[in-house]
Amino acid sequence: MSFGPPDRKELAQSELVDQLRALGVRRGDVLLAHTSFRAVRPVSGGPLGLIRALRDALGPEGTLVMPSWSGSDGRPFDPGSSPASPDLGVVADTFWQLSGVRRSAHAFAFAAVGPRAAEITADPLPLPPHIPESPVGRVHDLDGRVLLVGVGHDANTTLHLAELLAGVPYRVRRSCTVLRDGRAVRLDYEENDHCCARFALADDWLRDEGLQSEGRVGHARTRLVGARDVVRVALERLADAPLLFLHPPTAGCAECDEARRSVDAVVDPEADTESTGR
Ligand SMILES: [Zn+2]
Repeated sequence: MSFGPPDRKELAQSELVDQLRALGVRRGDVLLAHTSFRAVRPVSGGPLGLIRALRDALGPEGTLVMPSWSGSDGRPFDPGSSPASPDLGVVADTFWQLSGVRRSAHAFAFAAVGPRAAEITADPLPLPPHIPESPVGRVHDLDGRVLLVGVGHDANTTLHLAELLAGVPYRVRRSCTVLRDGRAVRLDYEENDHCCARFALADDWLRDEGLQSEGRVGHARTRLVGARDVVRVALERLADAPLLFLHPPTAGCAECDEARRSVDAVVDPEADTESTGR
C-alpha cells in the first residue's frame, strides 16, 4: 500500500521519532498536534504510523491531543461515531477511533490519550468553542505544547483562546445542534471567528523571540511552540491592536469583513434595557 508520491522516500517510524526529538518533543509532554498528512507522507504505516511515532516520542507519561470536532452544524455530535471534520485531516480522524483515546462529548471535541487525557476532554460544551474551560484551554493550563505538522498557525486553535483572553470585540453568529431529552435542538452562539489566515503573523512573533522550533516530520515542515508562549505573544500584540487578526477591509475577505461588521453592530446592553423597560 502506498501512502505518498513515488518521488519521496518512505520514512520509518523510528525516523519520525528522531525527527520529533530533534524538534524538541519531550517524553511526558502534553502535545496538541494539528496535522496535514498530505505534507507528511509517505511514512511507514501511514496515518497510524505517524500517531505511533508521536506516542513513542511522548512515552507513556506523555499526553497526545488532537482536534476532533465534526464540523457538522446540523447534526448532534456523537463522540462514538461522528467523523472528525475533513478539514482536520486523516490523522485526526484516525486518532479518535483508536482504543484508549478519549473524546469530548460535544460538537467542539478534541481527542486525547495519556495521563492528562481525561481532564483535557472533560469540559461540557464550551461556547464559544475555545474558552479557557475547553480542550485548548486545558492544554494551556497544563503548560502543553502545540505541534503544527504540515500546517501553519492558521490551523492553531490556541490563537482563538488568546483572542478570548484578550477580549477581542468581534463575534460572528454560528449554530450547532445538541441533543436535549433525546431531541435535536439548534443552539445559536457567537464566536470569535474569521478566515484565520492572519494567525500566520504568529510565525514571526514566535520565531523572533526564539520560541518556535522548526524542522521536518516525515516530509512536512513542522513547528513546535509552547501554548503559553503562543498566548503571551498574541496578547501583547492584541492589546495594542484588537483587530490585528482580521484582514483589512481593502483585502475583500468576506469572513473577516463579517467579523468587522460585528464590532460596529455592538450595542450597549444597558442602554437597550432602559429603552425597552419604559
Ligand atoms: Zn480574512
